[in-house]
Amino acid sequence: MEFFNRVSELDAVLNWSRLQLDNLNLDNVEDSRKKDIRQLCLTFNRLTILPDSISLLYNLEVVDISNNALAFICEDITKLMKLRTFIARNNQLDESSFPKEFGSLQIETLNLSGNRMKEIPAQFLELKRIQSLSVGGNRLKNIPTEIENLISLETLYLGGNLISTIPPELANLPRLKYLALCDNRIQSIPPQLSRLNSLISLSLHNNLLTFLPREILNLVHLQELSLRGNPLVVRFIKDMTYDPPSLLELAGRTVKSRNIPYRHSDLPDHLHHYLNLASKCPNPKCAGVYFDSCVRHIKFVDFCGKYRLPLMHYLCSPECTSPCSSSSQSDTESEEENNVPVDRLQKVLLG
Ligand SMILES: [Zn+2]
Repeated sequence: MEFFNRVSELDAVLNWSRLQLDNLNLDNVEDSRKKDIRQLCLTFNRLTILPDSISLLYNLEVVDISNNALAFICEDITKLMKLRTFIARNNQLDESSFPKEFGSLQIETLNLSGNRMKEIPAQFLELKRIQSLSVGGNRLKNIPTEIENLISLETLYLGGNLISTIPPELANLPRLKYLALCDNRIQSIPPQLSRLNSLISLSLHNNLLTFLPREILNLVHLQELSLRGNPLVVRFIKDMTYDPPSLLELAGRTVKSRNIPYRHSDLPDHLHHYLNLASKCPNPKCAGVYFDSCVRHIKFVDFCGKYRLPLMHYLCSPECTSPCSSSSQSDTESEEENNVPVDRLQKVLLG
């Protein structure tokens, strides 16, 4: 990395890269020098454990131990109170390789891509100051809901794993700017992700997505969205299953859509609660509402005047689809589409 080669910081850098080391022996490093060392580079060696001797370099801020055969991180790493960046790409680490107190570190950047983790270790979810977490190219099957604890996170890279679902809790990261979920097995995106107000870049290429939630239009800062390598539907799909509304739903729809006045004291609690659950039909030509019974419907929306994205939305009845969806071409004039600012997304990568 660039900072290891800067001459002005020579004293602060210990670069023992490519020396075929299988241990970290600091006996020949003077104590005064140990105090000065801020950055340690041990890349391309033969270390299988990160030994306790690392804590002798107690002022370390940056450690890069990528491309070794590392399977175990010593307990004493937790003594490095100034450690901000820990990089251990391309090793053999799994979720049991880390000391129990790893979460007490003040790490801001953690890169463990190219390892063997099947899940994100619980200690990582305690790293309160972490801004950038990379666990790409591992064997992760899911994202823990506790990811929401990492409220300082700005970059989350989870590409190249075996992830099939995204927990809605991921949407509770107010500072997240870059989210990479490419090269996984994701079939759907939870609509809650539209709450990621800081999101600039969303990588979803090479997954199993057939559509996106229409709420994705609410990501007002999104500049880049990659979707290539997904089986996105390209043509209007015939209406999907539609269970007819219950009598309760029909009565509720009538009360709501005709604005029939009612007071809490007029109704049993459960009916009052039910009426509050009404969703407005998103078809601008329909003033209706629905409760449990709705039509799932793919709608194509133009981005950049060039790409057409399939978005899922819900309508109150099969008739509601007809004004704007009888073919994949005829909905280009719909109001909703004209509301999408064409200059907003700078890049949509589909092919
Ligand atoms: Zn409707």
